[in-house]
Amino acid sequence: MGENHFKVSLGAAPGHPDWPNLLQFTILRNAKGNALQLDVVFTGGTGYSFNEYFQSYSYDGVNWRPVDWKLGHRMSKQEDSITFPVFEKNRVYVGRQVPLSFEHIESFIKKWRKTPHVTVHVIGKSLERRNLYRIEITDANSPHPRDERWVHWFANQHPGEHNSQWRMVGMIEWLLSDEGADCRRRFICHFNPMMSPDAPSHGWYRINAQGVDMNRAYRAEGSDKDAQAHEAYLYQRDLESLFASTEPPTSLWCMHTWSGNVDPRILPGPEMAPLGGWETLRDLINRHNHADLVRPMAKWVVKPETRTYWTDGMHVQFGATSVLCEGGAIIKTKEANKESGVVLMKGLAEYYRGTRP
Ligand SMILES: [Zn+2]
Repeated sequence: MGENHFKVSLGAAPGHPDWPNLLQFTILRNAKGNALQLDVVFTGGTGYSFNEYFQSYSYDGVNWRPVDWKLGHRMSKQEDSITFPVFEKNRVYVGRQVPLSFEHIESFIKKWRKTPHVTVHVIGKSLERRNLYRIEITDANSPHPRDERWVHWFANQHPGEHNSQWRMVGMIEWLLSDEGADCRRRFICHFNPMMSPDAPSHGWYRINAQGVDMNRAYRAEGSDKDAQAHEAYLYQRDLESLFASTEPPTSLWCMHTWSGNVDPRILPGPEMAPLGGWETLRDLINRHNHADLVRPMAKWVVKPETRTYWTDGMHVQFGATSVLCEGGAIIKTKEANKESGVVLMKGLAEYYRGTRP
């Protein structure tokens, strides 16, 4: 279009011609001293918007700085522009929200698994042969028998909602810290950081390689290899095996993003009444919410059309406490996203006191 001014036309997700892929790319050389302007268009339709969330750029793929769209999706769904500050280095990475690649998650896992409190389960392979991870955290020297510990399960369904993945990184780091030691002895926490690991490198927001929306892929009647998306089936089968064990999950958390602060919506399970009801969990989380990152927890309702969401489907299948943890798109740094997870984890640690009755 002009000097340092380009037009970008986004492609569409497999099977969804009206769903734009995310704006993400690497500038390999010569960026230093230049201010890039991009005019971005998507002509496939208005199924989802590429400019619903902020973008970020980085010189090392580790430290990210946010950049806002000029208009945003409420004003313009299919055309927008974005201007980056003058770059200070030659190589630049660009992605959406606070990006987190599958390789970056694997580098975290490599670090975490060095402690005796972490067990890494590979529950299968994605269609493009990436590992499907479940990270189990519980204290290796806990005095409490395993079947008396509270069990909590956390997962990210939509691969492009990176802020929600950072939220889980914050929870994991807190659990492994000195502050998390008491909680770690009383809890078993399972983290499924990315249910669709093939997606980020393709820029897919919601789907797996079969083009299935990963949060419309649950089967409340039970897992079924032929009826479900490949990775959804493997993760649901793994969850069913946890429920069939002597250490069934007490609460199930689905990590997503939408606008505003982190926004947990709960379907309470039977353990909550003797613990003071779900409102007590809400109040305990609020007490740790010093930086105002989390909205007060609210109730969620299962509708016939939401049974294929993981939150709803799992609650129907198992009756356990299930939380649709949305929001957080307003949070623009890795540190604050991680802190939002710490706020939730501290609330859980206080609410689920002692051991399982
Ligand atoms: Zn989502």
